[in-house]
Amino acid sequence: MNREKVIDRDEQYIMHTYARSPVVIERGEGLVARDANGRTYLDFTSGIGVNSLGFAHPAWLKAVTEQAGLVQHTSNLYYTAPCGRLARRLCQRTGLDRVFFGNSGAEANEGAIKCARKYSADKYGEGRSKVVTLVNSFHGRTLATLTATGQEVFHHDFGPFPADFAYVPAGDFDALAAAAVDGRTCAVMMELVQGEGGVVALEPDYVHRVADFCAARDILLIVDEVQTGVGRTGKFLACENYHLKPDIVTLAKGLGGGLPIGAVVASEKAAAGMGPGSHGSTFGGNPVVCAGACAVVDAMDEEFLQNVNDCAAALWAALRALPHVAGVSGLGLMIGVQFEPGVSAAEVRAACERRGLLVLTAKDRLRLLPPLILTPADVEKAAAILRKALQSI
Ligand SMILES: *Cc1c(COP(=O)(O)O)cnc(C)c1O
Repeated sequence: MNREKVIDRDEQYIMHTYARSPVVIERGEGLVARDANGRTYLDFTSGIGVNSLGFAHPAWLKAVTEQAGLVQHTSNLYYTAPCGRLARRLCQRTGLDRVFFGNSGAEANEGAIKCARKYSADKYGEGRSKVVTLVNSFHGRTLATLTATGQEVFHHDFGPFPADFAYVPAGDFDALAAAAVDGRTCAVMMELVQGEGGVVALEPDYVHRVADFCAARDILLIVDEVQTGVGRTGKFLACENYHLKPDIVTLAKGLGGGLPIGAVVASEKAAAGMGPGSHGSTFGGNPVVCAGACAVVDAMDEEFLQNVNDCAAALWAALRALPHVAGVSGLGLMIGVQFEPGVSAAEVRAACERRGLLVLTAKDRLRLLPPLILTPADVEKAAAILRKALQSI
């Protein structure tokens, strides 16, 4: 089917909630996406941090197809093996104790908020339900996670919103302490690297002060690792880069290798109140998705993460050497590029696309989220295309 037909049909029948590029991807392998006319693109988006092993990774493909042939879904009324297998791996890799599976980042964060409120209600009774989040955060599109998202632009037209959320500027410990000191706060939720907010990493000192403050007041610390988690920053969790052990970590994007999954990974303490009937999700823990996610987690051994760190170092250096680049931000392979005034990231993105390189933007920055299986040769190719794109602007 040709490109125009696919695009026209989509325009007619799909709600217009996304601003899309006129690119129709038909198939992919590794870092290479191919459109219907055989044109190829080097993919430095990984479907917004999702295809952590690139397109059609053999181990992931085998796990998914084999499981689909055995049993594709049972509901959570019964047991299947892949779900527990994945949960054990996540507990081993994070040092946490219990997992709840859903289908998206928003659903994971929604579950984490419920977990924190339940813990607090069980221990302290009603009225200690406030969740403090950071300005410029992004936590999802459901009503509660939209409310948790500390960006004014999202807080119109869809109200009334759930109560008891407060926002404080990232990096300002005094503001956070002032907002959370009232005895009504059950959780602080934050991304260690704000992704949609512009790829901005928090300062370790600040993060540790927040963690100590929360621990002293029995306020649960929820770290939203939906984008930073599962190898993206060069460690399994971004928390490891910060030597941080939160009460709850949420995962999603990179975990399923391309299939929808979200996970609330919690300490025994934070999870204890979530008994039968307290939460659920029809598709949560789906065996096909979990089998694929096990393949993703298993791929991430020391050598794999070393490659992430090596390629990240090479990519950061290459980006800093490009014309019109004012700064590079982020952590590992979660990268923001700030340009000099007058150079628009959206224009650079479009210029890259015309030259066969897919990249993203976040706020006024260019954003790179390449698959974690990239090689130094891919870094060189992307940097060369970016250089040409920037020279053309
Ligand atoms: C993408 C993202 C979400 C939302 O994930 P969905 O799967 O789109 O619901 C939440 N938090 C962070 C940090 C994200 O990057």
